Amino acid sequence: MEAFVHEALPQRVVFGTGSMQQAGREIERLGASRALVLSTPGHAAEAEALAEALGTAAAGVFAGAVMHTPVEVTEQALQVLTEAGADVVVALGGGSTIGLGKALARRSGVRQIAIPTSYAGSEATPILGETAEGRKTTQRDLRVLPEAILYDPELTLGLPPAFSVTSGLNAIAHAVEALYAENRNPLIRLLALSGLEAMANALPRILDDPQARDARSDALYGAWACGTCLGSVGMALHHRICHVLGGSFGLPHAETHSVILPHAVAYNEAAANGLLAPVAELLGAPTAADGLHRLATRLGAPRSLRELGMPESGLGDAAEEIAASPYWNPRSVEQEAVRRLLQDAFGGQPPRAA
Ligand code: NAD
Repeated sequence: MEAFVHEALPQRVVFGTGSMQQAGREIERLGASRALVLSTPGHAAEAEALAEALGTAAAGVFAGAVMHTPVEVTEQALQVLTEAGADVVVALGGGSTIGLGKALARRSGVRQIAIPTSYAGSEATPILGETAEGRKTTQRDLRVLPEAILYDPELTLGLPPAFSVTSGLNAIAHAVEALYAENRNPLIRLLALSGLEAMANALPRILDDPQARDARSDALYGAWACGTCLGSVGMALHHRICHVLGGSFGLPHAETHSVILPHAVAYNEAAANGLLAPVAELLGAPTAADGLHRLATRLGAPRSLRELGMPESGLGDAAEEIAASPYWNPRSVEQEAVRRLLQDAFGGQPPRAA
């Protein structure tokens, strides 16, 4: 056993069918009484219904969350929060909605209950990514960690199959990078492999039948496990690339993770010195990069940055931004090699060590 440090995050999770109905009880448990329900515009009706179910514990609804947490939207929501006198936010949605709740918590100290409806994992992390003037910055701050998470698989039955796939691959990316994180540890390793296995097994079953409750429940368990890995240890090149492509080029979050993951893993696999061997084994492939590439292909995930709207002329700038301030990575982050990786990902080529 190699030396390690493990620091557990405070995390209250209520997992299971119907757990959304516990929202009122969780508000009380926090000693709060006025909840602002958050959602994206597309889920305003669900947010209104939740507010109605909360009765007098609801202070209002803000259904304006958008991807990558732009600060202008946070400022609007903060005004609504203040005017409503809310003492807790209930974020009903994917990473965008949960990100808004975190941004509000950071500014106002409001407590948070997260009810995730995608597999992105933000609810389990003390990480806040925000976009201001076209640049996305990320910070770790325990004040943004939600106090309670309600995982209700019923809420994911309507998650479109194609987005279920990309969101699930987003979760898998957290587990993969946790395995070779600088501050990796044996507990997070177990969680990463369990989450990865659950998600990789659930996604093909969801594609066959999006209403399959057992597969939805397994995938949501995988999302929790992978998200907890993201919250507990540092992420590396893969996440850095995705943050730059999302923050500076506006690419969609989950889809970008799906395209980049096999390439980033191929870049790192030799340097990771066997730490990714269990991934290859789990996926039944000679290498982890190959296994992830085959999984994404079998699931029909997007393959190229081109189809996500990345301009080819931006690849050089992206490589420069990534290499200028890389996250810790098992292999040194060289601008030219990253440029090659991005070119491969742009064209939908199979992954290689770049
Ligand atoms: P999202 O929250 O933007 O959701 C994508 C779309 O799917 C939205 O229109 C949403 O309304 C819809 N949707 C969500 N759940 C649905 C459901 N069950 N049924 C039908 N439609 C549904 O996307 P995301 O990928 O979940 O989150 C991406 C955002 O989260 C990015 O901004 C990313 O940076 C952030 N994120 C942050 C962390 C963190 O730890 N800070 C972790 C992961 C993701």
